[in-house]
Amino acid sequence: MSAATRPRCDACDAVCCRLTVVLMPEDNVAAHLTARTPAGLLVMAHGEDGWCVALDGARMCCSIYATRPVICRKFAMAGPYCREVRADYADHARDIPITLS
Ligand code: SF4
Ligand code: SF4
Repeated sequence: MSAATRPRCDACDAVCCRLTVVLMPEDNVAAHLTARTPAGLLVMAHGEDGWCVALDGARMCCSIYATRPVICRKFAMAGPYCREVRADYADHARDIPITLS
């Protein structure tokens, strides 16, 4: 992958923060930022926009960066999951019809 096409967090809409983040016992996240899945897993809650509620939407960065969950810490920029979620997001973005008013 060339440097020009390598994903970079500072040039990304934080699309990995749309993924489901399962919280580990060692995570310490405020309860109002979490939710339970139907299967009972404790996860980061998502807003109606699809992003994690801990995302600072104005700056597109994590508002709890210093105490972010273990899974978020392990997520590698330009790694396989990063590239996959970015490609999936780009595909869906293309599905959104453009309307002229
Ligand atoms: S890790 Fe990947 S998907 Fe997440 S913000 Fe960085 S470039 Fe975007
Ligand atoms: S906790 Fe922070 S890094 Fe993790 S998904 Fe939410 S906004 Fe992104």
